[in-house]
Amino acid sequence: DLLVNQIAAGEVVDRPASVLKEVLENAVDAGARAIEVQLEQGGVRRIRVTDDGCGIERDDLALALERHATSKIASLDDLEHVATMGFRGEALAAIAAVARTTLTSRAEGAAHAWRIDGDERSLAPAALNQGTVVDVADLYYNTPARRKFLKREATEYAHCDDMFRRVALARPEIGLQLSHNGRVIHRLPPGSVAARVAALMGDDFLQHAREVTADAGPLRLTGFASLPAYSRSSRDAQYFFVNSRFVRDKLLTHAVREAYADILHGSRHPAYALFLDIDPAGVDVNVHPAKIEVRFREARAVHQFVYHALERTLAESGA
Ligand code: ADP
Ligand code: MG
Repeated sequence: DLLVNQIAAGEVVDRPASVLKEVLENAVDAGARAIEVQLEQGGVRRIRVTDDGCGIERDDLALALERHATSKIASLDDLEHVATMGFRGEALAAIAAVARTTLTSRAEGAAHAWRIDGDERSLAPAALNQGTVVDVADLYYNTPARRKFLKREATEYAHCDDMFRRVALARPEIGLQLSHNGRVIHRLPPGSVAARVAALMGDDFLQHAREVTADAGPLRLTGFASLPAYSRSSRDAQYFFVNSRFVRDKLLTHAVREAYADILHGSRHPAYALFLDIDPAGVDVNVHPAKIEVRFREARAVHQFVYHALERTLAESGA
C-alpha cells in the first residue's frame, strides 16, 4: 500500500545516497562482476544502476517491488547467518513509492529481458544482456515535504560519491564505474584490495600506510592503516568494514583511536581502510535499517583484537 510504503521509505530512503546504497547492494547480492552507476543532478534527477548479475525472472519482477518480498531469506533462522547485503525486502518497495522507478532485467537463460514500471506495474518485453537495470528518477516527486529536505546538488552528489566509495572498497573484485551528469568520475577495474585502495584513497596513502593482517580464531583483520608521516587532506578517509559492510561503530572507532593514541601518541588524523571478518553468528547487522551500526556478541573480545592487531602493526613500523 502506497502510504505505508511512503512512510517506510522515510527510514530506508532519506536521500539519493541511500537509494544508491540499496540498489548497489542488490547488484552485489546478485553476483555482479561489473556495475555501472549513472547519476544526474546529484542523484535527485536520476540514479541508474546497471549490473551483469543473475537477473530477475519475469514472474518475479512485480514481486521485487513488493514490501517484504525478498529472495534472500527463507526462515528466521537465516537472519542469524545473513550473508547477503539485503534481507528485509523493503528497499525497492520503498524506493518505488517515492520515485519513478523502473526495473529492466534479463534472468540467466531467458530469451530476452522484461521491464516493469513501478507505478503501473505493467510488464513489457525489453532488450538487455543478462543482468538488471534499476532506474530511479525524480526522487520525492510525489512527496514535496521530503523534497524540501534535499540539499543542493553538490552535497547530494558528495553523499552518493561516499556511498559508491564504500561499496567499491568493500568489493575490489567487482569492476565499478560512476558517472555524474554524463562525466565519468570513477572507472575501477576489478583487482586487488591494494589496487582499489590506491585508486580511491590515493597512492600517497598507500605509500604511507602499513598493511594489517591479524587472525584470532573466528576474527580476521586486514587492510591498510596510515603511518604518522601521512597527513591526509580529507577528513573522511576512515573506512571500517565488517563482513564487507561499511560500518561506523563506536566500539571499533574507539579501538582504532586507542591504538593510534598509544603507539603514535595521537597521530592527528589517521586514515585507514580496515576489514574485519567475523563469523556472522557473532554479529548482529539487524540493528538499524540503514545497517551502518552493528552489535557484537563478544564486544570486549572484538575490541581487544582490533586494538592489539593495530597496535602490533603500527609498533612494527617503528613509528
Ligand atoms: P532485499 O535486498 O532486502 O531482498 P530489495 O527490496 O532490495 O530487498 O530487493 C527485493 C528483491 O528483488 C531481492 O530479494 C532480489 O530478489 C530482487 N533484486 C533486486 N535487485 C536485484 C538485482 N540487481 N539483481 C537481481 N535481483 C534483484
Ligand atoms: Mg536490497
